[in-house]
Amino acid sequence: MKSNKSLVLDEIVADAGARQEGFLHIARNADGSWVRIPVILVRGEAAGPTLLADACTHGDEYEGAEAIIRIAKTINPAELKGTFIGVPAVNLEAFRANSRVSPIDGTNLNRIFPGDPDLYISHRVANAYMERLVKQADCIITFHGGGTVLHLEPIVGYQPPVDDLARKTRELAKVFGTPTIWRMQNLPFEGVSAAEAKKLGIPAILPEIGSHCSRHYDRDKNIDICARGIRNIMIHLGMLAGTIEKAAVQTDAELRYIHTDAGGIHIPVKKAKERVKEGEVLAVITDVFGNQVSEVIAPFDGFVIGYWSVPVINPGDWSYLYGKILAEQSG
Ligand SMILES: [Zn+2]
Repeated sequence: MKSNKSLVLDEIVADAGARQEGFLHIARNADGSWVRIPVILVRGEAAGPTLLADACTHGDEYEGAEAIIRIAKTINPAELKGTFIGVPAVNLEAFRANSRVSPIDGTNLNRIFPGDPDLYISHRVANAYMERLVKQADCIITFHGGGTVLHLEPIVGYQPPVDDLARKTRELAKVFGTPTIWRMQNLPFEGVSAAEAKKLGIPAILPEIGSHCSRHYDRDKNIDICARGIRNIMIHLGMLAGTIEKAAVQTDAELRYIHTDAGGIHIPVKKAKERVKEGEVLAVITDVFGNQVSEVIAPFDGFVIGYWSVPVINPGDWSYLYGKILAEQSG
């Protein structure tokens, strides 16, 4: 439990019972503007834990950002115990460019945490995020999603249960409430913010929620899932009163990205959530004349979490995000 005295982050000062928004300033751009990190602080009247929720480490993954904004606007500080730190866009330059990576230095921010204050601009953003935000937190939700190229079913990543802190991330993933939770065995863990937070003793979960999709309904539905998850975690941590709403059955899964051997027109065959047998065709790839040039094959019995949802794919891109069921259990 941290105290409820004023929290000061650069020019952002939040007193107990107050909400405040502003920016962390990282470096001056060539045109005189600043590379910044937007921050919303909601400070409860009563002391309690600090939850950090952030999004747009990859700048085109927006649904978590919209949920953070919604939660920050709707929490009543008088009913909050502790502090909510909302960061709608860790990578604000990429957010503005609708890009996964920084348009300034082309770097994938989620491979370089904890960053370096003396290196390229993305390293400086990563370092400021770790030093000024992560180190304030008792618990972290770091949102990702399908961005501009993937359809994804909602999943929440937790860390392989090698110790008590990692086991806590699994508990948090279940509390978040999606029907599928993801044991992140195969991530390149060096440089991923959730893994770096764990090295500091702070549990972090990684929702992958939101899709490239054209229908407004899906976007709203995914924002609702993100916002409900944040609220569930706050109730679990004792920050808010209320009832946790989560899926009645939650599937524990390991995920694998299945990459293409050839570029072309990508035609998904298997639908989201569909159960698939080893050897079945997940997707067909044709050339620009419509002739089949390749197939993407299921490497084991599993089910579909997501797929490349724009027509053109390049060799080596993700075709399917494919799940192996570890366990199904009641929530
Ligand atoms: Zn991402």
